[in-house]
Amino acid sequence: MNTTTQLTAIQIYQKEYRSTHAEKRKAYAKEYHKNRYANDPAYKAKLKKQLEDWGRINHNKRPSIYRKWRLKNLRTCAEHASKRRALQKRATVNTKGIQEFLDRIKSLEFVNCYYCKALVPSRKIHIDHIVPICKGGNHEISNLCAACPRCNQTKREKTLDVWPLTGQRFFNF
Ligand SMILES: [Zn+2]
Repeated sequence: MNTTTQLTAIQIYQKEYRSTHAEKRKAYAKEYHKNRYANDPAYKAKLKKQLEDWGRINHNKRPSIYRKWRLKNLRTCAEHASKRRALQKRATVNTKGIQEFLDRIKSLEFVNCYYCKALVPSRKIHIDHIVPICKGGNHEISNLCAACPRCNQTKREKTLDVWPLTGQRFFNF
């Protein structure tokens, strides 16, 4: 057997191995990236930045992607929702004014986003906790604002000192 045929044999073997062990390889890769994400801060930062850059370019694709993801992950969503409800219950310090605030928004046709000042139909507006509840914010009127879907979805659980660093452009800042 000469070198060329030997190499070819190895290549054929590798190709076969790859196709018969696809699931195993996939699981291995997943585990590898998961570990690296947990242990390599630079790698984690790089992935986060990639995701945020993607989000900025494809922000209009987000809603349909979220919708598909939610349908596939109903159980996870239900768990998140119940966790959120429990957190919110614990963080509720003063419900006075909240309903009035929500009714006032509902009664208007358009509302300005608290962050970017965009004028948004009130049926599309999101109610956001300025300091996220998971970061110690309270569910009370002084911590609530009306936000456009885009601001709400890019802010997510970030606080205001971190969010602009991810590239959010405020019209008024
Ligand atoms: Zn906005």
